[in-house]
Amino acid sequence: MTSSNPVRWSQLAPLWAFFKSVTRSFTDRRISLWIALVGLVVALLVTLVWLAGRYEASQYQAELERDAADAVSDIRGSFGRHVLNLQSLQAKGVSPKFWQSEVSSMLSQNREWLRLERRDAQGAIVSFVDSPLREPIIDARTRLNEQAEIMQTCLRAKRLNGPAYSRSYFVPQTNGLGLEVMELCLPALEQGVHVGFTLLTYGLQDILASQLGDSYGRRNEISFIEPDGTRLAIHGTLPRAKRLFTATQLLDLPGNTLVLRMDGRRAAPDLFPNILPALVTAMSIALVSVLILLVKDSRRRLKAERDLADALAFRKAMEDSLVTGLRARDLHGRITYVNPAFCQMVGFEAEQLLGKSAPMPYWPPEMVGEYQQRQAVRLAGNAPPREGFESVFVRQDGSRFPVLIFEAPLINVLGKQTGWMSAFLDISEQRRIEELSRASQERLQATARLATVGEMASLLSHELNQPLAAISSYATGSLNLLQDPQSHVSRSTLSDLQMALEHISEQATRAGKVINSVHDFVRRRDQDREIVSPQLIIDAVMPLVQLQAHKLQVRVTTRIDEQLAQVLCDRTMVEQVLLNLARNGMQAMDHPNCLNRVLTLQVKRAPSSLSHGWLEFSVCDLGAGIAPDIAKQLFTPFFTTKSEGMGLGLSLCRTVVEQHGGHLEFVPLTPHGTLFRFTLPTASEV
Ligand code: ADP
Repeated sequence: MTSSNPVRWSQLAPLWAFFKSVTRSFTDRRISLWIALVGLVVALLVTLVWLAGRYEASQYQAELERDAADAVSDIRGSFGRHVLNLQSLQAKGVSPKFWQSEVSSMLSQNREWLRLERRDAQGAIVSFVDSPLREPIIDARTRLNEQAEIMQTCLRAKRLNGPAYSRSYFVPQTNGLGLEVMELCLPALEQGVHVGFTLLTYGLQDILASQLGDSYGRRNEISFIEPDGTRLAIHGTLPRAKRLFTATQLLDLPGNTLVLRMDGRRAAPDLFPNILPALVTAMSIALVSVLILLVKDSRRRLKAERDLADALAFRKAMEDSLVTGLRARDLHGRITYVNPAFCQMVGFEAEQLLGKSAPMPYWPPEMVGEYQQRQAVRLAGNAPPREGFESVFVRQDGSRFPVLIFEAPLINVLGKQTGWMSAFLDISEQRRIEELSRASQERLQATARLATVGEMASLLSHELNQPLAAISSYATGSLNLLQDPQSHVSRSTLSDLQMALEHISEQATRAGKVINSVHDFVRRRDQDREIVSPQLIIDAVMPLVQLQAHKLQVRVTTRIDEQLAQVLCDRTMVEQVLLNLARNGMQAMDHPNCLNRVLTLQVKRAPSSLSHGWLEFSVCDLGAGIAPDIAKQLFTPFFTTKSEGMGLGLSLCRTVVEQHGGHLEFVPLTPHGTLFRFTLPTASEV
């Protein structure tokens, strides 16, 4: 979350629903998508490997075609050279004797030559030489069988005036095998006159062996075939490889057309015939590996997404169920987030609050200045109190309610402060309960006070008896003086009357004071705390204390240190505390065995250094003391040992003292008696 671009969490809800529905439909389709993807990749790989293999095969086929074409041209070249050799032999015009030896040497040099004949112009054999390299295979019968073909070839040669080739034919041999042979007929001229023919018999297999054997025969099987595929001659061996490649080429010769076929084998469906398919395969494997990694990664991401979704859902559920209002603000004081509880608290929608800055719509108009100041202090970097602070907000309907605010800096993952996070507690209910308890406490105190008053009424009647009796007797005396016929209004009579009236006035004032002090005590109910001197408090309770002291024959002494600071307190309540303690003390001394009935009220500085700035009030009696089992429940409301007691006095005293921040306790005295003491803060301390 940044200050410039606040994340509005409430807006994430529809986004989240959309994300979930999309995720669900994607999860369903994801599997089929993955299957399709994997299928496609596999198909692509197979196609690539197949294409690479095909390319490889086509390369080899083309190479074989080239070889076949080269082979054909090699054969044609050597045939041309043979013709030249024979022509030069004819041109030499060697004598029959030398012709034999000349031709023999030529036959021994050309392995494919089987026999060379010299024929006359009619085609009759003049002389012939068989190849010295092998057994003669052509005999007179063969010649006779093929005479027609030979003659046809020679006539074609004569007509062409150049070499002509015969059809090939099979010459069986004595060992059961045979040879396919072909004739070359070359017309012989002498001074432009046709004199005969030179007939050369070729062994087709030997042509293949001697012309092509070295260059092509090692890797291929070379053969001459007929158009229907019948093999005439064959040479070479086929390697034992799976795939067979074939190339055929025509060897067009005058008078005959031979078909040369070259068969080659390659280990063709080799998966890696060369580097290209190997490369393609390697890349495919890499691709598949990446695919697998992607699948793994996507699984991890899916899991992370699911975890995140769970965390988000948990967080949202938590936020929605919170009763504490939450609000986030950026460093400029703009609201960046509010939770449903906060919205409910102030009665505004989240949209109405997000992006808002001071003055906020839930601030009471008359407090805007003060709140703005408070916010400025906060934004200036002053940390708010950890225990929170109270404030008042106004709802959209105009009603006000108290809130307790806890604020803390909002720190992002980088440890940088991006704003403020605040938690709000609506404390209206708490306040209502406090108010109720305070009211009932007050009622209880009033009741207790009235009980005290009831008790005092009897004392009052006793106390008022004296001044009233005095007034009555003075008044009767005065009347007697005035009504006596013998009495003269002498100077002495007047002075007696004056004295009597003065006494009457004095006693009436005394009676009035007594009544006033009780009246004051009952009527005064000033809640506010005031600064008052301890002397004044003691003076206020003394007349009331004295009332009971007279009745119980107790002597009351006071000890107030010099120059004591003033205390800040609810004066009436503190007076009642003193009155209660004094009354309890006097009642404790009210038994016949107690001869020394002295009650001491004392005020001094609190002795402990910790309570510097505090005053200690104490009430000390010399009664029987407090038994341990009674001491345990002394402060329990309604605990009393007196028949007419209510048991509320001490519990109220402690509540009052603690409300002032002070502490009430008692100490047993030796040999007997009890000291109750409590502390109150001085005005300077508060
Ligand atoms: P009440 O005076 O109506 O009984 P309190 O709460 O004032 O109610 O006192 C409770 C009880 O504590 C008294 O009943 C009494 O037994 C005991 N107590 C209080 N003060 C003294 C004292 N100074 N000496 C002995 N006992 C006391």
